[in-house]
Amino acid sequence: MPISPTSAKAADRLLTVDEALEGILSRIRPLGAREVPLLDAIGRTLAADVVADRDVPPFRNSAMDGYAVRGADVATAPVRLKVIGAVAAGAMPERSVGSGEAMRIMTGAPMPDGADTVVRVEDTDNADDVVTVTAATTKGVSVRRAGEDLQQGTTVLPKGTLLRPAEIGVLASLGVPKPLVIARPRVAVMATGDEIVEPTEVPGPGKIRNSNSYSLASAIWTAACGPWMRPVVRDTPDSLRAALRDAMEADAIVTSGGVSVGDHDWVKPVVSEMGRIDVWAIAIRPGRPLAFGELYSSQGAFDAGPVRPRDPAPPSTPGHVGGRTVPIFGLPGNPVSALLTFELFVRPALLKMSGRTKLFRPRAQAKLLDPIDKPAELRLFARGIHDAAAGAVRLTGPQGSGILRSMSLANCLLDLPEGPERFAAGETVTVILTDHPEDH
Ligand code: AMP
Ligand code: MG
Repeated sequence: MPISPTSAKAADRLLTVDEALEGILSRIRPLGAREVPLLDAIGRTLAADVVADRDVPPFRNSAMDGYAVRGADVATAPVRLKVIGAVAAGAMPERSVGSGEAMRIMTGAPMPDGADTVVRVEDTDNADDVVTVTAATTKGVSVRRAGEDLQQGTTVLPKGTLLRPAEIGVLASLGVPKPLVIARPRVAVMATGDEIVEPTEVPGPGKIRNSNSYSLASAIWTAACGPWMRPVVRDTPDSLRAALRDAMEADAIVTSGGVSVGDHDWVKPVVSEMGRIDVWAIAIRPGRPLAFGELYSSQGAFDAGPVRPRDPAPPSTPGHVGGRTVPIFGLPGNPVSALLTFELFVRPALLKMSGRTKLFRPRAQAKLLDPIDKPAELRLFARGIHDAAAGAVRLTGPQGSGILRSMSLANCLLDLPEGPERFAAGETVTVILTDHPEDH
């Protein structure tokens, strides 16, 4: 069928960054839940509410080293009180405190009955038999209520909570050694290209070292996912096919290179055989082209001979019926483009897969210090150094898509929209704070 000028035009239309991202996120679902040891739960999201089974702290206790007393006795100072004993953390008080009496008490020790106030040791003469309180002390101070941190029966951490160090501590104090969390995505990383050698090798003529597998694996790691390094794939359909078949055990696959329209770019045709893939021309610089697709397999059929073409899963059902669907991100080979498209498209997808609800980095407005020229039809993500105190941003230097140093110097991306061809120094621009955790 001849292609009409209209359809040719439609095919030429560049996809916006937001359209591509929406297309990707609509196909991604959170992984299943599993119980993991507490220390493995850092960076995961809770798959069920956590309810306090007891009060924390479980008993009234002292917040200071000092003397447990009756508040009425220390409203004025100086005052002398009879010391009737001592209680240390981990012990129980042997008697109650009456009027005119004091009990030595250590931080964390249970409060004796009768006492409602702790006088700090610094506000006394620290004596053993009769203590002199030298500063008036307000009734009730330095006493921690039972349940003042966490109350029995309340939902302390709702389902969906991202577990950071503080939440891990809360789980420990509630006696939850194996929280139920969304599984950590295991993400296969593979570089493609006949020119690529490993960093341990001295590159021969025409060869370059593999940086993408390492930067991408690290980006996967910092997205709290598990990178699974795969060997470099050569530019033949057979080696790519075999590599993808092996990598299908992963929850997602990230490739770099081989998505252009060069003679040796095999990602699109090979993934099409094993599932479906779209190679997008996105209105972005750097980062064109980008591919996103899905590999389909029946359960346990990984080694059942050559992979046959399969029908694409219907758009309404993200899971392929009776088998697995493994999302695949075909990133460009240029080191800056690979890492930048990971940040913009893959990281939010992996976070969604991890059960996170906040998928996007914080943004800020900043005064541009360097002028920037850009193609009007593209959205440019320039690498910048943001000075939050000054509210200003400057470029990291040369911005070529092969200049990885532009990324390593950067603490933000300047998000320069389609439309303008030039941003002048002094203009206000939007920056994406890529060193900060997602906030929306
Ligand atoms: P491609 O997308 O395969 O055409 O590659 C685009 C450019 O990125 C070429 O200059 C490649 O040599 C380079 N490149 C591809 N893969 C890698 C890699 N793993 N590490 C570093 N550079 C790469
Ligand atoms: Mg290549």
